Amino acid sequence: MSYESKMFEQFDMPTREEVEQVLLRALLRHGGIIKEFGSGEEIVDEIANDFGLNAHQRNAFLETVYRKENRVKKSLLWHRLLFRAADSLAKRKLVSRPTQTLKLTNKKEWMLTEKGFDEALYLSRIPAASKNFLPTKSYEVQKVVKKLIESQRPENYNPIDEGKKEIKATRKAAIRTRGFRQAVVEAYSFRCAICGMKINSPDSLTWEVEAAHIVPHGFRGRDDIWNALALCHLHHWAFDVGWFTLRDDYTATVSAKVHSLPSDFGKCGDYEFIREIASNNTRMFLPSRSELHPHHNALRWHRQNIFHGDNR
Ligand SMILES: [Zn+2]
Repeated sequence: MSYESKMFEQFDMPTREEVEQVLLRALLRHGGIIKEFGSGEEIVDEIANDFGLNAHQRNAFLETVYRKENRVKKSLLWHRLLFRAADSLAKRKLVSRPTQTLKLTNKKEWMLTEKGFDEALYLSRIPAASKNFLPTKSYEVQKVVKKLIESQRPENYNPIDEGKKEIKATRKAAIRTRGFRQAVVEAYSFRCAICGMKINSPDSLTWEVEAAHIVPHGFRGRDDIWNALALCHLHHWAFDVGWFTLRDDYTATVSAKVHSLPSDFGKCGDYEFIREIASNNTRMFLPSRSELHPHHNALRWHRQNIFHGDNR
């Protein structure tokens, strides 16, 4: 038995397989990413707490003797075990290594892969179908996000993808859809572009805000950042049915039908949901990078085809 294995046994540490499972569940809790394991990182303590490790187990050191250099290197036993577990997950392609993730996100983090995401959902007893609604990062989805937010903003943009095929329920299509959602809601900092609403579920797994197409999917609208807005559920609905639209200066304009709306319609208690959009002539909550703002060609299409202006 190796020195390291002896030490794991001596301090009655959890097995590597147990740590692997807890790591996958922790990755899910943390949106698919956790930092490299180092002293002072909260995640290191958090997972130690999951196992109820005592102070001896947390502070035990491994001593490696480097004879040539005549020095002894000390490393925390618990960190070593975490690393061994994460390394094993990486070998099984359930996570990407920090060096690999760095190339994608510029951050040294362990990140779930699609396969790891499936496994983490299973271990957390969350139905696999929830995958489409969770903003959890995965290596494959992050690749789509990177492409979407780093593409050159086109001058002559056509928000309609003429060659768009009926989306088949393939794995690739699902990853592309999730990449679209994630790129959009992240660009808008998880806020509704109209009201600024920002809230997630109590377990922090799901965001309320949605990625809305400006030219809808059914009209072959493109799945990219220039044909999108982040909107809360209510504003998403109101935008899709044409209650309001955006002008080229990104202020909102509301259908004239608001004047014939029965007085008890469009209210949440005292809050005038539709009329409030009309009075809100200030700028929207848009991404800080202007190249990610909705394209005027997409907004024009929405004004002409979806919005119920004065004459419709
Ligand atoms: Zn809203």
